[in-house]
Amino acid sequence: MAGEIVSSVEMLRKLVAFDTTSRFSNLALIEYVQGYLKGHGIDSKLVPNEDGSKANLFATIGPNVPGGVVLSGHTDVVPVDGQPWVTDPWTLTLKDGKYYGRGTCDMKAFYAIGLAMLPQFLKAPLKKPIHFALSYDEEIGCFGAHSLAARMASEVPKPRVIIIGEPTMMTVVHAHKGSQSYVTKFTGFEAHSSMTHLGVSAIHFAGEFIHYLNTVQEELEAAAPKNSEFMPAAATFNVGTIVGGTAGNILARECEVLWGYRELPTRPIEELGERAKKWLKEELLPKMKAKHPAAAIETELRASTPAFSPEGNDDAKALAGSWSGSNTVGAVVYATEAGIFRKVLGVPTVVCGPGDIAQAHQPNEFILASQIDAGEEFMKRMLEWCCRN
Ligand SMILES: [Zn+2]
Repeated sequence: MAGEIVSSVEMLRKLVAFDTTSRFSNLALIEYVQGYLKGHGIDSKLVPNEDGSKANLFATIGPNVPGGVVLSGHTDVVPVDGQPWVTDPWTLTLKDGKYYGRGTCDMKAFYAIGLAMLPQFLKAPLKKPIHFALSYDEEIGCFGAHSLAARMASEVPKPRVIIIGEPTMMTVVHAHKGSQSYVTKFTGFEAHSSMTHLGVSAIHFAGEFIHYLNTVQEELEAAAPKNSEFMPAAATFNVGTIVGGTAGNILARECEVLWGYRELPTRPIEELGERAKKWLKEELLPKMKAKHPAAAIETELRASTPAFSPEGNDDAKALAGSWSGSNTVGAVVYATEAGIFRKVLGVPTVVCGPGDIAQAHQPNEFILASQIDAGEEFMKRMLEWCCRN
């Protein structure tokens, strides 16, 4: 059976047409990729989520030996709801040297280019394998990458380098902050707002917690390294949403705070969260309970993405730099799957891919046509390297 031959742009058009917003299944895209690989004689393995509604995919091109390259990308995209799109987000549209569509830069272009080059990979005398690794649910907490990396660690001969193709304009990113998020539910006791001695307002105590986070923030900023690659240099807290209360004249019984932080690679990702939970339990809860014994505080972890440390990535930096032609190496503050892959596979990793993060998650997301060319050049140089001993 002759496999499908498509250009990078045509492959991107096909991938963009699958609405893989994280709340939906990604299986239609995964099945398409699986069928495309199969058409070229390549078997892929799927790693499904618990209810089977989504799956990761990995596949190896070339010899099944150690020392290969992993090309990693996520299949899901962020929602387009409420965004003022000028073109249909699911139809790749070329205008003035830019390809518009949801997922063009974040991040279907990277593996569209790799998949489109599959016939060239197969024709080449590969000495080192090329592995595709596609995940689900990156955008809502990197949930798929954990099981994907774990399966690859046990089934794929140890690779030499992992490339996470998030948009960096083909520069090399060797570190990023981690991300941790929690929801804390404060339960108070309702009373008339004039009778503050009879109840306990969940909102007022949630406010104290937010003040506590600000205090820790000031402490972190004062202690932040002076010549940091990260901007901002310190770990940073954010309270994303607050929901609570029923009326202006009632002490609020409930208040829910969604909060989290972006953490440096130098501190365990859980540490600030554990510290905040201890403060809630030992400092704030007794104060609430002193007002009314029904008061309660519950904190639940929502998502955790480890930071990506620059340690031990020199090999990947050198290789990705030579393939991309970029000698810019930097750090970013947004999280990717790099920290997970780096940790689970224990292989030098970098983030390097086409497109600009400034366009990610935006209405009218696009990738420059010249970035697709740059991505193709990267893959060609990588392929040459894979054919050497
Ligand atoms: Zn992304």
